[in-house]
Amino acid sequence: MTNITFHGGVNDIGGNKFLVEDKGTKILMDFGMSFTDEGKFFSQFMNARTSNSLADYFELGILPKIPGLYRTDIAKHVGFGGDEATEIGAVLLTHAHVDHCKYISYLRPDIPIYCSEASKLIMQNYDETGTDQYLTLKERFQVYTNNKGEISRASGDKVKIPRNIQVFEDGKKFSIDSIDVEPLPVDHSLPGVDAFILHTSEGSIANTGDLRFHGRREKDTARFVERCGESSLD
Ligand SMILES: [Zn+2]
Repeated sequence: MTNITFHGGVNDIGGNKFLVEDKGTKILMDFGMSFTDEGKFFSQFMNARTSNSLADYFELGILPKIPGLYRTDIAKHVGFGGDEATEIGAVLLTHAHVDHCKYISYLRPDIPIYCSEASKLIMQNYDETGTDQYLTLKERFQVYTNNKGEISRASGDKVKIPRNIQVFEDGKKFSIDSIDVEPLPVDHSLPGVDAFILHTSEGSIANTGDLRFHGRREKDTARFVERCGESSLD
């Protein structure tokens, strides 16, 4: 049985978090922020707390309560497990707009993030210029013993954990357990955007991501539509 659960991005622009399950394989397509949800509760100077962010997002219904999905430092801090194994085999990222990728910062670093090279570079830019943690997570609540034998709070390079980033090539299929993934480039308002066709054990499905039918890569969008036509989509 193939199941799709929409944890965001329904009757909304962005906030996409689509969970696809096939024969025990679970993958997420995008893990983005909903401007609508965040706008209901937060503003420029009033955001979710930092260490307690997950508690705030769960309470407000902004993030789904999926065990094993979130970074263990924050999950443990808010009493949401943290020692269990993760069931999520991968996150497929369509593109690096925040309404598709923002909450990657909260995921466990060992969950592979599949993205285009351009998306990786854009997220690296977010890491280097802002406070988000896309490619490298900085673990909280860590301590170490300094030269004088004192216990100190660890920060910076001492607490850096790289995420498992898997760069795919446009048009080149890859597999995540029972699911075959076709990443197909499309045109949008930033570089490195892909749509996906997933071939599961019970049929094929497509995720357009964000696309447009004009721009420098309009032919790529047309090609994606053609591939959808050829793929007996459910
Ligand atoms: Zn977009």
